[in-house]
Formats: sequence, structure tokens, C-alpha cells
Amino acid sequence: MKRIMIGVAWPYANGPIHIGQVGGCYLPPDIFRRYHKMKGNEVLMVSGSDQHGTPVTVTAEEEGLSPKETAEKYHKVNSKALEELGVEFTHFTYTMNETHKEVARDIFKTLYQKGHIEIESMETYYCTNCERSLPDRYVLGTCPECGQEDIKGDQCDECGTLLDPQELLEPRCMHCGEKPELRESKHFFLKLSNFQEELEEYVKDKDHWKNHVLNFTKGWLKEGLEDRPISRDMEWGIPVPIEGYEDKKIYVWFEAVIGYLSTSIKWSEETDGDWTKFWKNPDAEHYYFLGKDNIPFHTIIWPAILMGYDEELNLPYDVPANQYMRIGGQQLSTSRGTIVSLPDILDDFSSDVVRYYITAVMPETKDTNFTWDEFEDKVNSELVGNLGNFVHRVLSFTYSNFGEIPHAGELDERDQDIIEKIERKTKEIGKSIEDRKFKQGLKKIMELSREGNRYFNEKAPWEDLPEQKERAGTTLNISLRIVKALCITATPYLPHSMEELWKYLYEDESVHEQSWKEALEPLEPGTHIDEPEPLYDTIDLEDMREESKLVDSLNNLDLKIGKINKVKEHPNADKLYVTRVDIGHEERTLVAGLKPYYNRGEMEGKKIVVVSNLKPAKLRGIKSEGMMLAAQEGEKVCLLQPEGEIGENIQGTRDGADIIEFDDFKELEFRTAKWENGKILSKDKLEPIKTDRFEGTSVALIEEGEAIILKDSQGSIKLDKEISVGKEIM
Ligand SMILES: [Zn+2]
Ligand SMILES: [Zn+2]
Repeated sequence: MKRIMIGVAWPYANGPIHIGQVGGCYLPPDIFRRYHKMKGNEVLMVSGSDQHGTPVTVTAEEEGLSPKETAEKYHKVNSKALEELGVEFTHFTYTMNETHKEVARDIFKTLYQKGHIEIESMETYYCTNCERSLPDRYVLGTCPECGQEDIKGDQCDECGTLLDPQELLEPRCMHCGEKPELRESKHFFLKLSNFQEELEEYVKDKDHWKNHVLNFTKGWLKEGLEDRPISRDMEWGIPVPIEGYEDKKIYVWFEAVIGYLSTSIKWSEETDGDWTKFWKNPDAEHYYFLGKDNIPFHTIIWPAILMGYDEELNLPYDVPANQYMRIGGQQLSTSRGTIVSLPDILDDFSSDVVRYYITAVMPETKDTNFTWDEFEDKVNSELVGNLGNFVHRVLSFTYSNFGEIPHAGELDERDQDIIEKIERKTKEIGKSIEDRKFKQGLKKIMELSREGNRYFNEKAPWEDLPEQKERAGTTLNISLRIVKALCITATPYLPHSMEELWKYLYEDESVHEQSWKEALEPLEPGTHIDEPEPLYDTIDLEDMREESKLVDSLNNLDLKIGKINKVKEHPNADKLYVTRVDIGHEERTLVAGLKPYYNRGEMEGKKIVVVSNLKPAKLRGIKSEGMMLAAQEGEKVCLLQPEGEIGENIQGTRDGADIIEFDDFKELEFRTAKWENGKILSKDKLEPIKTDRFEGTSVALIEEGEAIILKDSQGSIKLDKEISVGKEIM
């Protein structure tokens, strides 16, 4: 049995994880972990949300939240999305936890006492206009290495160079755009130069590293290691634990890598685990999974910190960093743009389908492109057409002709041959995963499935029935052994669907409790087989693209729940009221032609739906800053009556959407509607989009036979009186 520690790069808690990062560093370690668990090895896999640093404070300022609120918000979002994808950690935490702060402070202090951290004077930026210091990401400028403009002062996303803000060309303040001035300040420097020789020695036997990781690291060492500032002048973060300097915070990258160790310790504290078995054991192997922009932190800075802190601690054995997976080709939805977040893609597709394609385009040795067209193509032709199809054919044929796993009679040469192939492929797939060649492993799974399809076709068990039932039974028994081997070997890649598959063969067991060598074990004849359901559905992106047209129309609107505070009569018009409406963060004047239908008392205090991104217009001399939505039937007018909070957006509409003209708004068709037998009943029967069954009369946005229902946090939007369906909203 081996002990394996897997460190997974800490996602910044400043936004949802995007699928490029999933292919870069979240899916590979999960495949690796699941495989080693099946091999009977003991695995400790740790990570958590990186909640400190300027990435979090910049987002917090943009979102109008405190850094802590932003950090907690995205920790929740990302933990949930990773869990849904099936990425399981031994311990997934966040850097705001006390154990982490304590370990980080202890390491900082120890390195300082040992002379590996020193105080030096340096010039840092200060904006006199904003009256604040500007640590890393608060300074924008041009990359001195590649010339990319508008990069942030900590790292160039284009060429990957690590920077100090002073190195930027044409620096400017992120807030006001003014040129900041340099001010002398004391900072703490990690003396990387102390570790030059030790690191050179460490890298010597790392021939098993990927080329790009090894070359990058050797490049740094060849240039000679420079000492790096690891403190910042900012409020958010872990205070520097040195007397007189508590105002300064530890640089986020210095403490984030420490998270691998602190989380292992925290895991020990909270369970009966023993972190030292993984960290102070020369036989334990440490693997770190990350994107290429994080290589130097894991092959230089983290090993140096470990060397300086405690010589007994294990150093990284391998750092299988991936390159970038970019989103290319036609977009699925314009509102989403070129970044696809993990929560978004999991809204539309099952997690194994996402895992399949992302593995197929994993950027293991070079940058790759995720394209929706290829996604559709590969899922349909490979996952559904090959693996799903083979498994379903075998299970269905067995179910309808035998109802149980048949006995194998005498085996012919072809049967023997395929059993040998199962053994060979299982070994090869395992070796690929062990070598961190996950794409190759997946390809071999598909090859085995293709072999299975070929064997099944050649043997044609349907031709043996009814006379040669035993021969057909033998073919099915062997085919089911292929199914079983596929199920075991594909479990690290497709954990959810393989669990479903396993239940057909072993009703009361879980595939996640099986060992890898179980792939080669024969099945128990006589076991009852249930009627199989297909494991995967084909994908049709054309359908989704149309759907997103309607979704996009809604997304271009800012429909808010408002409350009517005051109603006055319009001085120059008989039918108009002038109202003051609270829409959450502000009060607006809305002019509405409701005087013939409502008296003032009926309206004041009422909750309504306001089109708040409508271009303001003067109505008989008074400017109306938006419009309240109502439906009309003959002499009756009904206001929309939401139940959510004031200021809340109608679902699918967007806070801060661009201003639209009244004529463009009139192009949109909103009508009253009801639910009827899975359809939305309005002027016609319409296909519902992303809408569940709802009660009573509501309002639908309609386009080309499809409809989406207006909802708030409390459910579908009602109207304040009874009204028939199909009536226009205005
Ligand atoms: Zn650059
Ligand atoms: Zn400024």
C-alpha cells in the first residue's frame, strides 16, 4: 500500500470556477485519487478556497460587499459546484480558518528567525488621488516581458510572468487611472537565494516531471533566484506575525501554498487521521495539481518554504501542471461570453458528460480548445454512441432473452482473445492514470468499448436464438465481463454513471467500494438483471441555442420588484398618475395611465414589477423613469403582483442591464399564461423553457412557439385580479 498526498491548487474565492480551471487542475486530481483508492492506496487530498489577497478585495469592491462576504459567498458557490461535479476531497477548507492562520504565522516567524525572511526597504505604489497604497492587483499597466496592455500588477495572464507592480510599464491606479507615486516602505522578503543550491539538487532527479514544468523551473534556477517581497500594505489578510509590523499582511501566495500543510493538520484535528503519516514519511508521495500560471509557486517557492521550515517535511514528488484550456468556436449563449462557469455548465448538462469532454480535451501538454461543437460531437459519437451504446445493447439483450446473467459454456478462440484484451486494456488504463496521462487512459477505455461492440457484432448472439441458446449465453456472459471491466476502469472518470451501471450487475453494492482488480473477475451467473435505461442522452445544442435566444431576451431586461410609495394625480392629464416607487436601492418617478382603473389608496403600498432599464421619457411634461407592468382585458386592468423582496430582480433578468428604447421593449411579447399538461397555455400552446409546473395565472415571455415564465424568489408572478390567458402585458 502506498500513501499519496494530493494538493489541489486553491481556487480564489472571487468568482465561480470556470471550466478552463476544471480541465487545468480540478478534474485531473479527482481521477487520480479515485484510481489510487481503488488500488487500495491511502490518499489524502486537500484544498480549499483562497480567501485573501487583492483578487478577493478587488471583487468585493466591485460587488459592494466586504472582503469577508465575498470570500464566504464564493467559497459556498465553488464547494457546491465541485461537489456536484463529483470532485471529492479528504478535506476542502478555506484560508480564513484558524488552524491555517496559525500554521502560516508559525512558518513566517520560523523562517524569519532562521534568517530566510529579511526586512528590506522597497518602493511601493501610493495613489495620492485616492489616498491609498496600491498593492499588486490595484496597479494596472503594460507587461515588461510581452507588451500585453492592461495587465494587473501581480502576474501577466498572457505570458505568465510573475511581477511586482513596480515592474509594470505605464502604471496607473485601478480606481482613478492616475499615475501613482513610488514611496519607500519596509517589507519582508523571502530569501529565495538561500535555497538556490538546495533547489538545484532537488530538481536533479525530477525527470518524471512534464517537460514544460521542468523547463520552466530550470529556467528560473538558471537565471538565479531573486528574493521576493512577501508582505503587503493592505487591510485584508493574515497580519505579519512580527512585532511592530502587524499592519502589514502576509502575501496571499506565500500563505496559500501553506494551506496544503495546514489543511492536512486541520484534517487530523477534526478526524482520527494522522497528517504526519503523509508529511513526515519519506515513502509518501506528494502530487500537486495546478495550472501552468502557478508552476513557480509549487516547484520553487513552496519547496523553499518547506526546506527552510522543517527538514523532515516531504517535498513535492511531482507537479503535473496542465496548460490552458480555452473556450473557442461559436458560443452557446451571448450572455455568457467566452468564459463558461462550472455552475452554469452543470445547470445544462449532467456531471459525467461534462467530465467526459473536459477529459477528452484536457490540456496535459499543450494549450487546447473547448468548443461546443466538438463537445456535442464527442459526447454523441463517443460517450453515447460507443460506450453508452455497447453497455445498453448487452444489458437489453440479456434482460429480454435471459433476465439474468447467463452461464458461460465452452469458450472458443474469439472468446479467449477478448478476455485477454480485457486484461491488457485494464493494465494499460491503470498505467496511463498512474503516469498522469488521463486523456490516454480515457482513449483506451473507448478502445475497449469499441472492441466490445465488435465482438458482440461478430458473435451475433441473436442468430443463435432460439436453437443455440447456450452459445448466445456464453457470448452474453463474456460481453457482460467487458461491461464490468469498463465499469471499473471508467469509474475514476465517470463516477456517477458507472455507479448506475454497477447496480445492474451488483444491485446491493457500490462501484466506489470495488478494487481495481475486480475488473478481471468473472460474474455470478444467475444474477437477475433489471430492465436497463440508457446511461446517457444525446445532446442537441441547436435546441439549446434557440432556448438561449429567449433566455437572452430576458437577460437584456432589468425587471425589478418595486413598491409604490406615493400616488399623485398628473397635473396635465386626466388618465395619468404620477407615482414614486421604491425599487430597492433608489426611488423612481413612474407615470402610469391607471387612473380609470385604480384609486390612489388601492395603489399605495402595492408591490409591482418595474421595467427599470427603460429609457426615461416625458409624459405630458413629467419624466417617467421606467414602467410598471400590467395586463388588460376589456375594461379591466391587472397589475403584476410579485411576492419577492423589494429590489429583487425577476429571475433571468439582470441588475444593471443596458438601457433599452421603448420601441425595443414593445417588440417583446409578454402575455398572461397558465400551465396545462406540460405546456404553457397562452394564445397558443407553447413549449416551456426552463420552467416547472406553476399554479394559477402568470406572465410568459413568448417567442416562436416557446415561452418562459416570469418568476421571483417566491415562484411564478401572479396578477392582482382574475384574468384570462393570452392577454397582452403593457
Ligand atoms: Zn506578459
Ligand atoms: Zn487612484
